[in-house]
This record gives sequence, C-alpha cells and structure tokens, in this order.
Amino acid sequence: MTKENKCFLCGKAANSREHRYKKSDLIRSYGKERYKNERIIIAREGERDIYLNGPNADVVKYDKYLCNECNNSRSQKMDIAYDEFVNYVFTNENDVKKYGISLDKIWGDGKKIKIINLLQYYAKHICCRLLSADLTITDSAIQFLTDKTQSCPFIISFWDSIEYYKYSKLINEEINNLCLGRMLHMRNKVYGEYYAGDYGVRWFVMSWKYYLNHSINMDMENIKIIKIEKRSFTHFGALF
Ligand SMILES: [Zn+2]
Repeated sequence: MTKENKCFLCGKAANSREHRYKKSDLIRSYGKERYKNERIIIAREGERDIYLNGPNADVVKYDKYLCNECNNSRSQKMDIAYDEFVNYVFTNENDVKKYGISLDKIWGDGKKIKIINLLQYYAKHICCRLLSADLTITDSAIQFLTDKTQSCPFIISFWDSIEYYKYSKLINEEINNLCLGRMLHMRNKVYGEYYAGDYGVRWFVMSWKYYLNHSINMDMENIKIIKIEKRSFTHFGALF
C-alpha cells in the first residue's frame, strides 16, 4: 500500500483529506458559501491562476492520508481546541499582542487536556504536510497523535507576522491572508535532525519544528501565558 491509500494513524484505508488551510480559518476570512463573487487565487501555475471556489474545495486539501474516523470523530477534540484557541486570539487581538495568550482565560481548569488537543491538531497538520512531501512520519508523532503518550516531538512557537515577514522570506503559498511557509529540513547539534515550517492566519503565524529523534515531556499545569514576540521565536509553553 502506498501512503496515499493507508491511514497513517491507524493503517485502515485512507479515505479522508485534511485541509491544508483549516476550514474554520477559511470561513472566518471568506465565509461559508461558495466564493462566487470574489475571485480568490490560491496558486499560480505558470500563466494560469487557480481559484478557490469555497472552503471545501479540493485545492485547499491534502491527498487522502487519513481514514474518516481518524480525521473526524477521533480528531474532533483537536479541531475544537484549535478553534477555541484561535477564536480567542482574534477576539482579543489587542490584549494578545500586548500581554500574550492567556490559557487560563480560554480554558480555565480544563486547560491541561486542551493544550494537548491543540498540539495534536498542529501535529496532524504538520504530519500531513510531511506526507505531501513524500516523507515518513515517526512513531513518536503517531503515538502522540493517538493518545499513547504526552511526550511530544513538536515545538510550536508564535510570531506577529509584521516582523515575521520582514525577517523571513519563507512564504511558499498564500491565499490573501492565509499562508503556508516553505518546509525546511535542518539539524540541531543537541537534538539532531528536524523539519520546520509555518502556517499564518492574518498576522498570527504558528512556526513549528518536528524532531525526528527527540521528544519533550510537557508540564502543562504551569503554562499560563503564551507570549507573542515580534523579533524572535517564543516557544510554546512546556515545549520550551
Ligand atoms: Zn485512521
């Protein structure tokens, strides 16, 4: 079986496509209906423009790397945590830019499991990204995504894009205010080989690193605020 027809999480037949751009981010930016009137360009191929005609268009999805169950009922908690997190960011933009993201304000006492679910959402997005580049997913990532461990091989950081775009020329693909940065393959002296990339929603850019031979045990009770730095990486909570 090739990676296109086998779910990378459970091994069953893959029949579900993950969004490259989160559907809720597309809807927040452009609405729910088919995009008849706005001509939103998703990519340019030579002289040809490819238009986005709605939030469910195939052009904003990866190939089939997951089964329906893993991409829907099993990962619903991850999608919900992501939406709660990003909705908080955009309904409290001024406070978030000034003071950071208060995880206690979003989730209160339930934050520990919600942080894991949020990281699992980002992990799913990152794994699909790697699969689309014909790369293999490590067991450490699969175990984190299937609740076998809370030890996580992903490091997530957040940028304010104003500075980010100034310092970085990594943009690979862009739909107006949503963007996927280029994916990089790098090596760290201490932790070894890793991949890195980013995903931006308006000014809010999530940067990720995925270590192939290193995982981090998180201390989520003690994560209170995620700062949004403008000039340097700010690592997400216990992920550093
Ligand atoms: Zn599956």
